Amino acid sequence: MAYDQQNIFARILRGELPAIKLYEDEHVLAFMDIMPQADGHALVIPKVAAVTLLDLPPEAAAYTINIVQKVAKAIEKALDAKGIVLMQLSGEAAGQTVPHVHFHLIPSSIHHLGKHAAQMGDQDKITALAEKIKAAL
Ligand code: AMP
Repeated sequence: MAYDQQNIFARILRGELPAIKLYEDEHVLAFMDIMPQADGHALVIPKVAAVTLLDLPPEAAAYTINIVQKVAKAIEKALDAKGIVLMQLSGEAAGQTVPHVHFHLIPSSIHHLGKHAAQMGDQDKITALAEKIKAAL
């Protein structure tokens, strides 16, 4: 599938849309999910233009998973999370809604996850959670 430069995450990466950011470097951005499936739901995206995990160059995948782990540790510490679901949906058939590869970190149980990308979260609450996570990074 061709990469759509106008997808939401590409626009966030270009600074055209806002995001509640947790971490950013040359290769990766981590930010809060605006329709969280649990408190503290975060997303980690590589900056390379790739639609799914299958399109991601191995070096970018390896680097990104390091940051996924770093953010997961901060979520665990900041929110006293007992478990974190790492979710990655590749392809519409899997439920992917934004066509830029991303890793979900959801402090919850797979058995408790509600419907995906369904309901807008409370932005003030998400911002407060982001501040706690950032402080633990
Ligand atoms: P997926 O369905 O795996 O592609 O996940 C896309 C995720 O992006 C969903 O969990 C959405 O809630 C989330 N999302 C969509 N738009 C935004 C946005 N502007 N900022 C942060 N998260 C978003």
